[in-house]
Amino acid sequence: MYVIFGMFPVSCARTESSRAEFALGTVCSVTLFERGDNRVYQEIFSRLREIDNRMSVNIAASDVSRINAAAGIEPVQVHDDVFFVIERAVFYARLSNGAFDPSVGPLVSLWGIGGENPRVPTQEEIEKTLSFVNWRDIELDANSKSVFLKKPGMALDLGAIAKGYAADEAAAIIKSAGIERAIIDLGGNIVTCGVKKDKSPWRVGIQNPDEKRGTYIGITQVKEQSVVTSGVYERFFEKDGVRYHHIFSPSGGYPVDNELLSVTVIAHNSIDADALSTAAFVLGYEKGATLIESLPDTEAVFVMKDMTVRKTPGADFTITDKNFSLIQN
Ligand code: AMP
Ligand code: MG
Repeated sequence: MYVIFGMFPVSCARTESSRAEFALGTVCSVTLFERGDNRVYQEIFSRLREIDNRMSVNIAASDVSRINAAAGIEPVQVHDDVFFVIERAVFYARLSNGAFDPSVGPLVSLWGIGGENPRVPTQEEIEKTLSFVNWRDIELDANSKSVFLKKPGMALDLGAIAKGYAADEAAAIIKSAGIERAIIDLGGNIVTCGVKKDKSPWRVGIQNPDEKRGTYIGITQVKEQSVVTSGVYERFFEKDGVRYHHIFSPSGGYPVDNELLSVTVIAHNSIDADALSTAAFVLGYEKGATLIESLPDTEAVFVMKDMTVRKTPGADFTITDKNFSLIQN
């Protein structure tokens, strides 16, 4: 998913500046329109790295790695950033009835998707691993800001929510710098700040799950909102003609295999859109749409394997690729 820059008025493009760096396991790019000075870019990217350093499971000294190392042993005091994100993660785990589960760490490691040696584990391995996956065994203490994983072998993975938080934090920096128009794109996790110069909404393309990055199937128009997609195409490996992607069913232990190719959630805060797109993807179209519709100011677009697209009633979405068809409910 990406923002259609070609649609910007030329006068806008002249004052735009953009910067991209690798952080949070992905390419993070920020475009500031007007007054996009070095200092603001530096502040944004150092904040993104700070969040990564606190939440990454691939950094041994991160708060999340320390929590995981102390699983079944003792609570670990963490930074406010980390406590906040884990609290939201547990909130969404409860709301989605465990479809979203930040304790999927052991499953992520077992399959190794996105790593050097991904593989299809045995059923026995999956069942054993599932006994360590349960968000109800995450214990939070708001007073001491500490987190305890009750069972040894448990591990948190904030991969489905941390980028959303980071995008919100970048937006907050942009706002306090007095910059009115900006686009934040953390590997497809998008936040649009303000409106375009002519006051029209931003146009964000929704990725075609079967085509190369940047090929979109349709456009959603948004103002001051975040647009986040979870899909089968983000990270995967193939074995014997089967695609194994990176979003797991916390009950079955396999990559989710339902009627969906992707779910895009549009919400004010990126942390919410990020958690909800993952949750709705795991829940599937029916339950996912019911969840999204139960929330205020939150919309979704569902791209299905049969090339149909569905959306919640309030979502502003137009198909541009005629191979897909929008089914109106
Ligand atoms: P996203 O792209 O935001 O949907 O997040 C996917 C990432 O979140 C994966 O790469 C895993 O690190 C993690 N993850 C996988 N399955 C789940 C799940 N059911 N609930 C929460 N996080 C998950
Ligand atoms: Mg997510």
